[in-house]
Amino acid sequence: MKFLALGDTDGIGASCHYLDLNGTGLVLDAGTDPQRDGPDSLPRFEWVSDRADGYVDHAIITHAHHDHMGSLPVLVRRFPHVMAHMTDATKRLLDFLLPSSARLQQKRLDRGETSHEPLFTEDDLDGLEHLFLTHDLDTPFDLTGPNGASSVTGEFYSAGHILGSAGVELTFEEWGRERRVFYTSDTNMQAQTIIPGGDYPDDTDVLVLETTHGAESAPEETSRREERTRFRDTLARVLARGGTALIPVFVMGRAQEMLVLLGQLKREGAIPMDVPIYTAGSMRAIAEIYDDTRNTTPRLDPSDQVFGVEQERVPYEAEAKREILDGPGIMVVSSGMMFEPTLSNVLARRMVENEEDAVLLVGHPADGTPARRLLDAAREEQGAPVMLADGHGPQPVYCTVERFRFSGHSDRRDLLSIVDRMDPDTVLLVHGDPEARTWMAEHIREAHPKIDVHRPDWGSVIDL
Ligand SMILES: [Zn+2]
Ligand SMILES: [Zn+2]
Repeated sequence: MKFLALGDTDGIGASCHYLDLNGTGLVLDAGTDPQRDGPDSLPRFEWVSDRADGYVDHAIITHAHHDHMGSLPVLVRRFPHVMAHMTDATKRLLDFLLPSSARLQQKRLDRGETSHEPLFTEDDLDGLEHLFLTHDLDTPFDLTGPNGASSVTGEFYSAGHILGSAGVELTFEEWGRERRVFYTSDTNMQAQTIIPGGDYPDDTDVLVLETTHGAESAPEETSRREERTRFRDTLARVLARGGTALIPVFVMGRAQEMLVLLGQLKREGAIPMDVPIYTAGSMRAIAEIYDDTRNTTPRLDPSDQVFGVEQERVPYEAEAKREILDGPGIMVVSSGMMFEPTLSNVLARRMVENEEDAVLLVGHPADGTPARRLLDAAREEQGAPVMLADGHGPQPVYCTVERFRFSGHSDRRDLLSIVDRMDPDTVLLVHGDPEARTWMAEHIREAHPKIDVHRPDWGSVIDL
């Protein structure tokens, strides 16, 4: 078998890995790189023929985050015979997210925010759904390509990351023996609020493992229960003093998890039942998909509904916004990194100077983002300045700013325990910073000297 990373494997780039399994060509995910714009954000699909002398027969889409599925329409244009396999929940999310991505790309061009034509338009998406095949978890499906010298079978396993997320097991025959490849995709082995922890098979031969938290010791030093308690107490304090709590979130996954958590805190009496919760934009449409699939996808408690939590739309008009910011209240709005001109950025600029208010960060604030700048300023000293947007500020930070670890990814000890349990011959480390992949490689080699550990470079073909 051959493996070739078509997207950047250092950091969170465009997830897309080409596999040649005895003549069948597969890609695992077809993402776009969130740090890049235009054609630069795409995986290098041309390398499939140029470097691996292959063709793509099938694509596996493990979940509906853009770094895993954002380039699927471009892949299909390049390889018109490709079939894309995913879970039913992932397909429902793609049916909503891909057209909205096409519209957003056009809007950015119209507004002058990019010079690049959209990678695909809404028209390009017409008819695409016929190429999307859905499969239940734990149910084998055929992936053999027309030139495959032996059959290839796929099977999805719950990944515990977001709604619909799955790892995939590939079974095929090579040199007369059966081989298995398991791709974890993004994974969380611990339960979140809505989604239970991942549930993977017990063994494999080749493991393709994500390493997002490989360089971080902090996630393993705290537990979800401790973070939940700290979040509950901080939020209760802010509301009791009449403040507004802003919770910047990613619309796909984290928003829904946080809303159900807020509903639980209300039911437990930790925060007042009548405190208003405001939401906005596409997270509401995604919440509907979460609720529609609550009896057919893995859930901790299928009776928990995102729209079971009473919520109001953030009003559009500036005056009405001012009124709801008067507090007490909770705003669950995007973007998680607080990029301008998103609502979390706009609202934060109105709140940071107010001692009563709070910004509660529930994701990983990446370097160079407004969320990170705000956290750094708040940790410096009371009143330290922050620039949240060009042409605004600097503003002194007087509000409470706290970070909580509600990650959708496994910590690195849990990643190592996946290796312990599945006992592969070969591990390929992807989807993490260089330090993260190095830490993982060193620790796997230490515990299992016989395992062949690779950190695939972007663009190098590995023969396995
Ligand atoms: Zn993801
Ligand atoms: Zn990812």
